[in-house]
Amino acid sequence: MVVAKEVIYRALGEGRNKLLEHEAYEFLKAYELPVPKFGLATTKDEAADIAERIGYPVVLKIVSQDIVHKSDVGGVKVNISSEQEVRKWFEVIMGNVKSRVPTARISGILIQEMVPQDIEVIVGATRDAVFGPVVMFGLGGIFVEVLRDVSLRITPLTEYDAEEMLEEIKAARILQGYRGAPPRDKKALVDIILKVGKLMEEIPEVTDVDLNPIMVFPEGAGAKIADARILIKRV
Ligand code: ADP
Ligand code: MG
Repeated sequence: MVVAKEVIYRALGEGRNKLLEHEAYEFLKAYELPVPKFGLATTKDEAADIAERIGYPVVLKIVSQDIVHKSDVGGVKVNISSEQEVRKWFEVIMGNVKSRVPTARISGILIQEMVPQDIEVIVGATRDAVFGPVVMFGLGGIFVEVLRDVSLRITPLTEYDAEEMLEEIKAARILQGYRGAPPRDKKALVDIILKVGKLMEEIPEVTDVDLNPIMVFPEGAGAKIADARILIKRV
């Protein structure tokens, strides 16, 4: 919790109300949430060293407080499998961002473990003026964005609440194992939901959490957060 608070105060001290992506991962890691291995590089040499340490394949992403949708500005490259490619894409991404958003303040490029594609889910949280922290669960992509198929709970959450949240969505069957696919790791999702509820209770500076997507693997294989947005404010 000390590390988690430090990350938040540093960002607030710099006048930001949103954690940069690598800060969000530091924060989530402090809560023992399953984040991919990562490091922030400001040079090609650093990028190559970090990729080596993480192991290939890796993902490169621009880190800038002025860019919300990184893919839209050519700021994300997935599935990079060699040092040569890391160096090349470091340049390409920097070039894309500088030409498309010339005023963007750039902190560096995030080098991240490549998370295998799987069923995508979303866990989010916000603060309601009346009810306090509310945690949301849904399946990724069109399920949440188009069909609004989500379940919601007010904190504090019990394990039973979290299990119910998984069952409550209309598309719950997709997690049970669908058309021969093995059931997904619900325990890992329950754990994520509970930890998000806990951090909302413990850290009042966090106003919104959006873990989207989280890849959820077959039972026993866990889940991993592939993108995270955390909004903060002074309290
Ligand atoms: P943004 O939403 O800002 O465009 P993301 O970080 O969500 O950027 O990356 C875009 C997409 O790339 C994600 O939705 C996901 O499909 C894929 N992606 C991002 N990071 C990873 C990763 N570490 N492993 C695998 N796929 C990833
Ligand atoms: Mg995203």
